[in-house]
Amino acid sequence: MFDFTPTEEQEALKTMVREFVDREVKPKAPAYDAEPDPIKGIPWDIIKSANELGLKDIAVRKELGGGGADSQTLGMLVEELAVGDLGTSVIYAQNWKVIQILQHAGTEEQMKNYLVPLLEDPVGCCAVALKEPESGSDHFIPIKDPKAGPKMSCVKDGDHVILNGTKEFISNGYIAHLYIIFARSDPKASLTEGMSAFIVPRDLPGVDNFEGFRVGRVYDKIGERLAGNAELIFEDCRVPVANMVAGWNTALRDWVQISPQSNAYAGASTLGVGWAAFDRALEYSQMRIQGVKPIIKHANISIKLADMYASLVSAQMMVRRGCWQADHPEYFDLRLARSIKPFCSKVVIKVALEAMQMFGGNGAMRDVGMEKLVRDATIFLHSDGTNDALDRGTGELLAGSPIIR
Ligand SMILES: Cc1cc2nc3c(=O)[nH]c(=O)nc-3n(C[C@H](O)[C@H](O)[C@H](O)COP(=O)(O)OP(=O)(O)OC[C@H]3O[C@@H](n4cnc5c(N)ncnc54)[C@H](O)[C@@H]3O)c2cc1C
Repeated sequence: MFDFTPTEEQEALKTMVREFVDREVKPKAPAYDAEPDPIKGIPWDIIKSANELGLKDIAVRKELGGGGADSQTLGMLVEELAVGDLGTSVIYAQNWKVIQILQHAGTEEQMKNYLVPLLEDPVGCCAVALKEPESGSDHFIPIKDPKAGPKMSCVKDGDHVILNGTKEFISNGYIAHLYIIFARSDPKASLTEGMSAFIVPRDLPGVDNFEGFRVGRVYDKIGERLAGNAELIFEDCRVPVANMVAGWNTALRDWVQISPQSNAYAGASTLGVGWAAFDRALEYSQMRIQGVKPIIKHANISIKLADMYASLVSAQMMVRRGCWQADHPEYFDLRLARSIKPFCSKVVIKVALEAMQMFGGNGAMRDVGMEKLVRDATIFLHSDGTNDALDRGTGELLAGSPIIR
């Protein structure tokens, strides 16, 4: 049923991105990562070069002037970018995810008003915001009690809604020009029956900004440092009802149909970090001599490398299958979709720690770069839902499932 062998076109795109990563991302990312000020750590020059290569628009439909790539292709590219740097890969994973959401659930007018200007924007990025200071895991499980979940208010006023509240930790929050914001349109209903989502532009060419929306704090994170995570503040921000994506009150309920690739892209991002750690460990183990032979010739090291390789290939198969089912909704299985990111992040943190230890004392030296990979590997234990929250949601689905093989 599935064939995950890359097509000629996918292979060509992977090679293009791999060469870009070797040329632009790997040499520049460590300096951005080391910037104490997260705003100075935004890799504008990498973003510009990636966009010149066509990466910003690659997920946009061909008839709108984009590359028309499907989720499988994009997942492969997210993974390649993350081999160079996790933050850079998240910038594009979020971009592509939002563009795919708009194309799936948006109206033709929304395409004209927002996607076309995004194509003209040399640094245009996208973000999607659910998380708020008082709420995080509730919408991933999701908890049914109406008291649970995001509180950002969304009140109808004629042909507008008025948004009030704060989002936090949002990937691309500082750099995005196009946001999808989730708000509570029916506070008396549960999350899945009372949330709506809206397009909010910022500094998009030829498009007016909305008053009452500003970017607040930019977070100083331990890893994925290049992704400009930020707080988004809404104070009586009037947004046209015409900017609603998906149905009134049903945006979270329909999230899985709107963004079936979300978890697979998160898995692909963290997987790329795992490959980077594995590649470095393999290279070092062939070169480093101890006990009068390369350390890979010692059984403990070669067995560990074999185990790391098998774990990464398994994680990659999950990502590929997750992307495949996003492209084939008739086969979509929510249990699998929810399991990808937790599985990949657990594999990758283990691989990164083992790889760092293979460098002996050098592994602890910042300039060697293994510690950056370990810091990056921790991020997806937290991001895109905690593993416990996602696994708990999957567990609830499994409770009602027949035997699955
Ligand atoms: C780097 C990064 C990037 C992010 N990017 C985005 C983004 O682009 N957009 C966005 O909307 N959000 C984003 N987030 C938010 C992220 O999804 C949340 O931080 C995450 O879901 C956890 O929510 P929380 O921080 O409120 O933790 P909490 O929900 O407070 O969880 C705290 C602990 O309690 C556990 N827990 C919580 N609820 C339950 C329960 N019911 N049963 C059992 N255990 C429970 C959790 O597993 C965790 O261990 C990002 C976060 C990070 C760190």
